[in-house]
Amino acid sequence: MLELEDALARLLAAVPKPAGEQILLRGANGRILSEPVPAPVDLPTFDNSAMDGYAVRATDVVGSSSGSPVRLRILGRVSAGQVFAGELTAGTCVRLFTGSALPRGADAVVMQEDTRVPPDLSTEVLILEPVKAGENIRFQGEDVTCGNVIAHAGDVLTPGRLALLAAVGSTRVHAGCRPVVGLLATGSELKESGEPLAPGQIYESNRAGLEPLIQQAGGIVKLFPIVPDEPGATRSALETALEECDIIVTCGGVSVGEMDLVKNAFDELGGILQFWKVAIKPGRPFAFGQKGVQLFFGLPGNPVSALVTFLLLVRPALLRWQGATEIGLPSCSGILTEPLANPGARRHFVRVMVNGAGAVRSTGMQASHALSSFASANGLVEVAPRSTLAAGTVVRVLRWE
Ligand code: AMP
Ligand code: MG
Repeated sequence: MLELEDALARLLAAVPKPAGEQILLRGANGRILSEPVPAPVDLPTFDNSAMDGYAVRATDVVGSSSGSPVRLRILGRVSAGQVFAGELTAGTCVRLFTGSALPRGADAVVMQEDTRVPPDLSTEVLILEPVKAGENIRFQGEDVTCGNVIAHAGDVLTPGRLALLAAVGSTRVHAGCRPVVGLLATGSELKESGEPLAPGQIYESNRAGLEPLIQQAGGIVKLFPIVPDEPGATRSALETALEECDIIVTCGGVSVGEMDLVKNAFDELGGILQFWKVAIKPGRPFAFGQKGVQLFFGLPGNPVSALVTFLLLVRPALLRWQGATEIGLPSCSGILTEPLANPGARRHFVRVMVNGAGAVRSTGMQASHALSSFASANGLVEVAPRSTLAAGTVVRVLRWE
């Protein structure tokens, strides 16, 4: 049985080199950048005011106070989006607003709160506080320097990065292509929800959880109908999926007895099963195969095993397929409020809830079929074989939200 890290290394080695495409910035959230982006402009693009107030020459207002204000003549006003045509000279100022371009000749901005308009004269302003040169100015290039790389190949296009790219005027980016992921559930006992259940049958539920997880990892899901446990049906479903998809994710049919069905069908279609079984709980009967550059992931049928193996083993492959640098689950540290025990021989990924303060508790029954404890969990904590983590232990919580 493979260790998790070995299984991951082997399947990542099979991921083909990522392909890229030009896409619109709009709608690119979550996509993976495939080329670095050098800034085509400085940010800020020009020196501008950080405040509503008055552009001044700092030397003009030295020594000003509310007791003895300095009186300056107002040459004009510059709203955001305009520029002042003239130039400040001694004893003058220009009315500005946040984001207004700094007029020539000015070297500081006095904020409005530190001024008073004299009752007699609306063309003059009284300055009540001195300012240092450079005060309340947002300087050109202090945030981003033209030519510097502001986003790297392999970066996720987060809302923050999208805003930055928009700020430098980008409308398109080069991003990793998204894989088409065929999602199949196997099992003669499974029924589509909405249909009546005969005795012994259950509703198929894995696709409902796996589809959004695949989408969140950038995959384009192609949903297949339930596949009964029969050689012909298994083969024809896999055959269609191999024709239409880059990556195939199945669930069920990889436990001891049923493995032969999937294995034989995949063999007959020219696929090669690379490994089967990983030493983790939940999720031992996990299979991985390849047909050329196409990848096959056979997840266990047990609902929690399917979701956990997806998160630990398939999600990284989907992200790498698109060229992502960071492929592991995000994590945070937390403190156990109760002990977590693993009497078994495999590493156990325990479903937990971590709250905003970092307190971590188990979400309940940890059996592989027990979906409710997965449904209320927002993280997994690894507990080593035959060990117990005491209450108060600082743990790393793997997250997937
Ligand atoms: P298997 O891996 O096919 O042996 O399935 C293990 C357990 O998971 C059995 O109890 C199955 O009925 C159940 N199971 C398999 N596939 C699904 C599915 N897609 N939805 C819900 N339960 C499933
Ligand atoms: Mg089955």
